[in-house]
Amino acid sequence: MEERLQKFLAEAGVASRRKAEELIAAGKIKVNGKVVTELGTKIDPKKDEVLYLDKEVSKKEVELVYIMLHKPEGYVTTAKEQFGRPGVMDLVRDVKERIFPVGRLDYDTSGLLLLTNDGDLTYKLTHPKHDVDKTYIAKLYGTPDDMDLQKFRRGVVIDGKQTKPAKMQIIEKGERQSTVEIIIHEGRNRQVRKMCEAIKHPVAQLKRVATGDLTMGDLPKGKYRHLTPKEVKYLK
Ligand code: URA
Repeated sequence: MEERLQKFLAEAGVASRRKAEELIAAGKIKVNGKVVTELGTKIDPKKDEVLYLDKEVSKKEVELVYIMLHKPEGYVTTAKEQFGRPGVMDLVRDVKERIFPVGRLDYDTSGLLLLTNDGDLTYKLTHPKHDVDKTYIAKLYGTPDDMDLQKFRRGVVIDGKQTKPAKMQIIEKGERQSTVEIIIHEGRNRQVRKMCEAIKHPVAQLKRVATGDLTMGDLPKGKYRHLTPKEVKYLK
């Protein structure tokens, strides 16, 4: 049966569906010996030969792997770094499958980052219509008051657009900084930092501790573990 090239590439573990589209547009994929840049291209996995970096792509041999990494601060989430900064892929070197991060965390944010070769799951978890809760623990400058918490509940305007309702709960008040728990439902660029700036309590430190019901527990910083079958089932 025919299917779209980007879906095929994602299911074969080459990249997320969005990244696969970029690979196609960039002329990196060949079908039956010819470079294909058309995004709507359909292929028949049984008959057509698909090449990425001149290696045959096949869905048969990929074992799907699901990894949770405790990303430290000071690592980029992108695969290639133009400034030579360390990347999260350096921390999962011994995973033999070609995995990629699900969404991203900022260079200076730590915490739970999923990596997988399951392009369909990546697509599902990063698609805006799929609003998985993400829980963060943040250190903020100053202490937000009730009005600020209410603003979060309504959603605040960042980059000219209202966010979905979010939650902020004070965990500890300090003299100059406070610790809060924040739950958001989207994954906009630097969303937590921008939301906290909008209520005039900028972030000093940020850590993601959960994605939906999936929690990082006491996984040490810089270490990873495979998800349990139950956790994978939950995400799917
Ligand atoms: N929000 C941010 O501001 N940064 C992250 O890394 C994740 C969410």
